[in-house]
Amino acid sequence: MKKTCVVTGGAGFLGSHLCDRLLAEGCRVICLDNLLTGSIRNIEHLAGNEDFTFIKQNVTEYLYIEGEVDFIFHFASPASPIDYLEFPIPTLKVGALGTHKTLGLAKSKGAKFLLASTSEVYGDPLVHPQPESYWGNVNPIGPRGVYDEAKRFAEAMTMAYHRFHGLDTKIVRIFNTYGPRMRIRDGRVVPTFISQAMKGEDLTVFGDGSQTRSFCYVSDLIEGIYRLAMSDLNDPVNIGNPSEMTVMQFAREIIRLTGSASRIIHRPLPVDDPKVRQPDIALARRALGWEPRVGLEEGLRETIGHFRTVIE
Ligand code: UDP
Repeated sequence: MKKTCVVTGGAGFLGSHLCDRLLAEGCRVICLDNLLTGSIRNIEHLAGNEDFTFIKQNVTEYLYIEGEVDFIFHFASPASPIDYLEFPIPTLKVGALGTHKTLGLAKSKGAKFLLASTSEVYGDPLVHPQPESYWGNVNPIGPRGVYDEAKRFAEAMTMAYHRFHGLDTKIVRIFNTYGPRMRIRDGRVVPTFISQAMKGEDLTVFGDGSQTRSFCYVSDLIEGIYRLAMSDLNDPVNIGNPSEMTVMQFAREIIRLTGSASRIIHRPLPVDDPKVRQPDIALARRALGWEPRVGLEEGLRETIGHFRTVIE
């Protein structure tokens, strides 16, 4: 008997890659997405696959799924800072009400549950790099608070269902991830810089560009999530690539790899933009035998190749 997995946000960047992986592992996949920031284009290659079902559904509302479900992956959420600004209330609702609904579905089906959480639970971190034991430094009322607090609530709700209802739950804290199927205009630094470089426009570095990020290629991330799903861990696990760089270094790298004549200009730093971010992945290494394999240059060449096929 094939296992049945529900993926919320399955038409999004990460959700669609997860659907591909679960199908490749021989699962049936039911993808729920309201297409607020997801796109049918990310799953159109799965049309006609008899193991794949798409349901256009807002997971903040009551969920009905017929038949048995073995695993629920809750990936639905806007995930880019400009999306939180445009959709602050849906972001709060999907993290809070959507997590409650999907946990309720998992409970009624006796399914395992995996929450896509985020490095944003650490906020603008005062501990560096960030281990899972760090409680974070989050501004609840800033523009990013709608995402950070929704995900923190989602983690609390997930642990409550684990402790109180005995559900087998997992939490992955996802650090900056990039790769094919990111939206060109989602405002995040990877698609923004690549599309600016490809069009010969100036690259917009926010602030002085000394803030750091650590970028993980999507195939590495999905491998880590799959291993976590198969594990017996219930506490949160960081999955990300610990190789850290400044945004300025990243801009120069994009210019080099695209062979662009673009220059770098500066724009104001957004409110509460974290100054540093790097995952401590000791737990993932030890408990899952996982670490990233794809280097930045290799991953960016793949991603640039993808954007060349979609950029107008
Ligand atoms: N950033 C930038 N220029 C842009 C977009 C983003 O300098 O056009 C910076 C942003 O201020 C942040 C980093 O790049 O310091 C990563 O931003 P992103 O929106 O990708 O995600 P975040 O890691 O902040 O959630």
